[in-house]
Amino acid sequence: MSKQTVRKIRYDSVDMEGALRLAGKALQEKGVHTVVTPNAEIAQMCLEDPSFFQIIESADIILPDGAGVVLAAKILGTPLRGKVAGVEFGEALLSLAEREQRGVYFLGGRPGVAEAAADKQKGRLPKLPVCGVHDGYFDKTGAENEAVIEEINTSQAQILFVCLGAPLQEKWLHANKEKLTHVRLAVCLGGSLDIYAGTAKRAPSVFIKAHMEWLYRLIKEPRRIGRMMRLPKYIAGACAERLRGKKKGQKQA
Ligand code: UDP
Repeated sequence: MSKQTVRKIRYDSVDMEGALRLAGKALQEKGVHTVVTPNAEIAQMCLEDPSFFQIIESADIILPDGAGVVLAAKILGTPLRGKVAGVEFGEALLSLAEREQRGVYFLGGRPGVAEAAADKQKGRLPKLPVCGVHDGYFDKTGAENEAVIEEINTSQAQILFVCLGAPLQEKWLHANKEKLTHVRLAVCLGGSLDIYAGTAKRAPSVFIKAHMEWLYRLIKEPRRIGRMMRLPKYIAGACAERLRGKKKGQKQA
C-alpha cells in the first residue's frame, strides 16, 4: 500500500476499499493498531504543534479525511487516491465487524449518545456485536480513566471507536493504548457517534458533492469559526509550499 506525504503527514493513499483492507489486515494481528483521520483542520493543528504531529505520525493507519487534504495534495502535485471520510469509514468498519463477528466498543459523546448510536447501528446491522459503550465526559487522568480502560478490556472488544474530538481523542489514545489488552483496532472518529445517533446531521449530499461540507458545518455551528480558520491557512500553506518547490526547481535548472 502506498504512502503519500501531504504537508508533512504521511497519509495512506487509499480509497474506502483500500482503507478497509488495511483495517482487515490489522484485525488479524494481535496488539493495538491505531487509526487517525486527519482532515485539513487537524493537519494544520499538527503543523502548529510538533507534539501533536508526533502522535499523528505514530498512528498505524492515517486516512485522508476531507476535501481540503485532497485539494492540498493536488496543489502540491502529489495527488492522493481519494478521500476517506471518517464517519463513512466507521460505518463500513461496523459492517465488517458484523460480518466477522468482532466486538466493538463505542467511547465518546455526551451521556446517552453512544447507546443511541449503538441502537441505530443495530437497526442496520442486527448481528453487530456491540460489547460496550461509555460517554466521553470522564476524568481522563485519574481513577475514572483506569475504570474506563478496565471496562473496555473486560468487554473483550477488538474494535474501539474513540470519539472525543480532536486533538483530545488522539492524545488520549496515544497515552492509553499500551493498557488496552484486547483491542486490535482503535479508531479516532471525532463526532461520528453523534451522526450515528442522529443528534447531529451530516451535510446534505449537495454540500458533500460540492466539497463544501465544512461550510454546512460552519452554518450549523458558527462557534467553530476559530478552529475552521485553520482550513484556509492549510490550503494557503500548500500553495506557498508548491511555489517554493517551483522556485527551487528553477534555481537548480
Ligand atoms: N467529546 C467527548 N468528550 C470530551 C469532549 C468532546 O466525548 O471531553 C465529544 C463530543 O460530545 C462530540 C465529539 O467529542 O461528540 C467531538 O465532535 P466534533 O465533531 O467536534 O469532532 P472533531 O471535529 O473535533 O473531530
